[in-house]
Amino acid sequence: MTCECIAKVDELLKPHNTRLQLLLILSGPNSELPYIGTEQIEKGRGKPKAKTMFPSFCPFCGTKYRADEVENSAAA
Ligand SMILES: [Zn+2]
Repeated sequence: MTCECIAKVDELLKPHNTRLQLLLILSGPNSELPYIGTEQIEKGRGKPKAKTMFPSFCPFCGTKYRADEVENSAAA
């Protein structure tokens, strides 16, 4: 992990029976990234499915995630 913010925030949320939603990445040091929710605008047959978004920076401390590894995982 680039930073320990996800674990720290999860610890703060735990008393509230809450935790962050994460994207699991199979390779690289950023094995878990905060989830950014997306949804399909137009639904129906033939409409492209919603894409997955990956954060480039930690939303809690601003540390840059290693973009090359995030992009490689996104393509998989
Ligand atoms: Zn962080």
